[in-house]
Amino acid sequence: MTPMPPAIVILGQGSLATARRIQQVYPAAQILGLAGRVDGADRTYTEFGDTVRGLYRQGTPIVALCAAGIVIRTLAPLLLEKGEEPAVLAVAEDGSAVVPLLGGLGGVNVMAREIAAGLEVAAAITTSGELRFGTCLLNPPEGYVLSDLESGKRFVSDLLAGHRVRIEGAAPWLDQAQLPQDPQAQRSIHVGSDAQAVSADELRIYPRSVAVAVAVNGEGAQSIRAALQAADVALQSLACLVAADEHMSDPVLRETALELGVPLRFVAAAHDIAGLARGAVPGAKVIEVSSRMAVAVAGQPLDIAQIGRPRGRLAVIGLGPGAAELMVPAVKAELARATDVLGYETYVRMAGPFRDDQIRHCTDNREEMQRARHAFRLAAEGRSVIVVSSGDPGVFAMAAAVLEALHESNDPAWHSVELEILPGVSASLATAAQAGAPLGHDFCVMSLSDNLKPWSIIEKRLDLAAEADLALAFYNPISRARPWQLGRALEIVARHRTPQTPVVLGRDIGRPGQTLRTTTLGVLTPDQVDMRTMVLIGSSTTCTFPRAEGGEWVYTPRWYGEKPTS
Ligand code: SAH
Repeated sequence: MTPMPPAIVILGQGSLATARRIQQVYPAAQILGLAGRVDGADRTYTEFGDTVRGLYRQGTPIVALCAAGIVIRTLAPLLLEKGEEPAVLAVAEDGSAVVPLLGGLGGVNVMAREIAAGLEVAAAITTSGELRFGTCLLNPPEGYVLSDLESGKRFVSDLLAGHRVRIEGAAPWLDQAQLPQDPQAQRSIHVGSDAQAVSADELRIYPRSVAVAVAVNGEGAQSIRAALQAADVALQSLACLVAADEHMSDPVLRETALELGVPLRFVAAAHDIAGLARGAVPGAKVIEVSSRMAVAVAGQPLDIAQIGRPRGRLAVIGLGPGAAELMVPAVKAELARATDVLGYETYVRMAGPFRDDQIRHCTDNREEMQRARHAFRLAAEGRSVIVVSSGDPGVFAMAAAVLEALHESNDPAWHSVELEILPGVSASLATAAQAGAPLGHDFCVMSLSDNLKPWSIIEKRLDLAAEADLALAFYNPISRARPWQLGRALEIVARHRTPQTPVVLGRDIGRPGQTLRTTTLGVLTPDQVDMRTMVLIGSSTTCTFPRAEGGEWVYTPRWYGEKPTS
């Protein structure tokens, strides 16, 4: 798994250049700038303390471009809480100093060195074990895990106090370390996947070198643990579960992998379970525990990316109207994990920036079904694909097209893709929120585009919805190819509404240059509207009143008919 990108937090415009240099080290990192002080950050925040504490609690690594003392004071109230902590670093505004503060096990020293290298300065490393031995024994490289931290700390302080150590097993990264090695030493660093108990004098490091192959019939985490025990292999060395392709959508397998915290990989079916394990990890020692489970033990940590393929994933996501603040966190996480991004070019650009390893497949807006099929072809190869829509993907956007493509297909590989639809804030809701609550009572959402439905049905629905006194939200109100339809629609609505009916026009809401206008049905003309506009038309109860800061509030009360007494 790629480590979580840090948040780069800055307080003033003077830090932006340094922040951008740090961002070159971590391209997926976002720069958070103090609102009103920083122009051109990726995101803004209003309260430094709450923001930094929020990031810390979420486990997001923090690079703060300010005095170390400010960061320390800000996080102090949280430091007594137990649990894993993210890396926290203070970097001088001008990039002249990089100070790792917290998160030794979150790799803070590694980050400090990476950032310092990017800024061409030296990192202020203060961890004595690391300084003396040139490596942090308690933070082994990727592919290895430490048995237990507390005894590890004791072990390192013993070495610092002058004890000598012997190394058992293969630990290539320790070759360069200046450890006080002695083949006769009582204390040992033992690197291996065996399950024997850890003695008081040893530091145990497990290579993630073991895969368990399972033939699916309800093997839960407990039976995997039992299989490892039977094979005399430590659970900590488990790197992944492997199964045959045809079990890709098996929910028990997925649960089991999740519970064990390891990835799940799929390979072509073999004639028996040992064959499956051998095919997955060539050259490994294979222990067949039962006809349903085999344990493959390799001499080295496994490179998971080389083992078969993962279950493909397809997420249809909604970006919201545009502003990053209005994007749901699940969508942000999905953007970070995607290998492939499909969508109309404007939206793909809006969803970025992407890393170099994320492939963008931009297409014309009209080719929805082709894009949906393309997405399934990629996901069926085991890739993690996102299809991007603006607003909500289920509102006149890609989610329905993707489901239609799946419904029409009888390719089992497409049906075993993990498909998820992630919602977003739709333009009607984003616009309504800015205007007040024009959709506060029953309302009707319509697209005025007759590209995919006959105009006659649009007229009929407009007529009935207006007659039913629903507030109306019009998507796709007008375009160069559909110049007259909006005028006709307004005529139909005007049959059932007074000219004083409030109308809200939101253009590019949540995007640069957004405009919000309140007008009335009587004076609204189609030339005030374009394809980037959301049109909200009130019902008979929708009303307006002046706002203190200018303009007006628009709302539709919760009640209908007689106003309830309260
Ligand atoms: N899935 C999108 C809607 C796609 S249809 C959503 O849920 O918002 C495209 C129409 O949505 C546009 O013609 C316009 O009417 C409206 N729209 C989309 N984004 C908008 C925005 N930021 N501001 C105003 N209207 C927008």
